[in-house]
Amino acid sequence: MTATNAKAAFFADLEENLSTLRRDGLFKPERVIASRQGAEVVCDDGRKLVNMCANNYLGLSGDEAMVQASIAATEQYGYGLSSVRFICGTQTVHKQLERAISDFLGMEDTILYAAAFDANGGVFEPLFDAEDAIISDALNHASIIDGIRLCKAARFRYQHNDMADLEAQLQAAAGKRHKVIVTDGVFSMDGTIAQLDKICDLAERYGALVMIDECHASGFMGATGRGTHEHHKVMGRIDIITGTLGKALGGAMGGFTAARREVIETLRQKSRPYLFSNTLAPSIAGASLAVLQRLSSSTELRDRLHANTAYFRKAITELGFTIKPGTHPVVPVMLFEAPLAQQFAQRLYELGVLVSGFFYPVVPMGQARVRVQLSAAHTTEQLERVLAAFGQAGRELGILKN
Ligand SMILES: *Cc1c(COP(=O)(O)O)cnc(C)c1O
Repeated sequence: MTATNAKAAFFADLEENLSTLRRDGLFKPERVIASRQGAEVVCDDGRKLVNMCANNYLGLSGDEAMVQASIAATEQYGYGLSSVRFICGTQTVHKQLERAISDFLGMEDTILYAAAFDANGGVFEPLFDAEDAIISDALNHASIIDGIRLCKAARFRYQHNDMADLEAQLQAAAGKRHKVIVTDGVFSMDGTIAQLDKICDLAERYGALVMIDECHASGFMGATGRGTHEHHKVMGRIDIITGTLGKALGGAMGGFTAARREVIETLRQKSRPYLFSNTLAPSIAGASLAVLQRLSSSTELRDRLHANTAYFRKAITELGFTIKPGTHPVVPVMLFEAPLAQQFAQRLYELGVLVSGFFYPVVPMGQARVRVQLSAAHTTEQLERVLAAFGQAGRELGILKN
């Protein structure tokens, strides 16, 4: 083989792999939105759709107050820092945001990252080594799995949400120096809420720390929206919280880790995605600060989200669809077969509803679904239109009997 041919073979291999994805129905196309993100969006084909698949839980992504807060922060602090935090990339707005996140979550201190993916990628390796044990839920987010891979600690995996198996793994890890239990606060595929009360009890009994990833919880879970730890009344018993600014808390991007001062100071010294990656843009820091001030003064958005969720869960069930039971604004509408989930999502698109089909390998084989996500921004009229479209598509595709 000549050198030129060898290189051509590389690109041919990629093309073949992509063809396989397309043939197996696993290729992920991207819808192109031409408007702001919101309860309604306009796609690049001019179609106006009710959006039921964003993590825009509090409806802030396209909110005018957020746009204005980000502009105000840009005016005051400029466009960017061209620096990592420890060289010359820390502004007052970053310190204020870290303080506000700590206060909101009930934690001592907070460190910002460019994304929650980075927060999870950079949390384990500086804190734990080969003498330690990480005990992780089998369905934890990809960024937790990758973060654990970068760390030398022994790995123990417990079956998803299975407290008996968690206890067995804690016993298996008994000889280790430090132990940490890690779980998503809410699992985004099913809307399952981790049993943090039981996890904290087990952690106490076995002398383990508890870390939770609050990406699908911060801002709206619990009576005042602090998160899953508030929902389960275990505020003060969680040792490490990671989360995102890219979902409920505004929807731009950015992540954080909150914990005791010693933990956060260690991360500032040693966490690689923090040390070697640029500062969060001032516009995002300033707008996120405005979100936390708003959520601390009123539970209105959180309350509206939960009212929308309760309404939708009840109405979709009455229509005759099978959903995963629960209370979270993630509502998996089960269709079981992958081609049906794809056809259903496509028909809903034609009827003016944006949802996304999920199938193997994202969810287990035979568990295909469309995942609906409610937002505080949805009006009752929009939800009624969505329910009518679900009914029509459901009858057309034989999912509903009448
Ligand atoms: C979305 C998500 C992340 C990644 O958040 P980004 O800020 O977008 O990187 C991490 N963990 C969980 C559980 C998530 O749902």
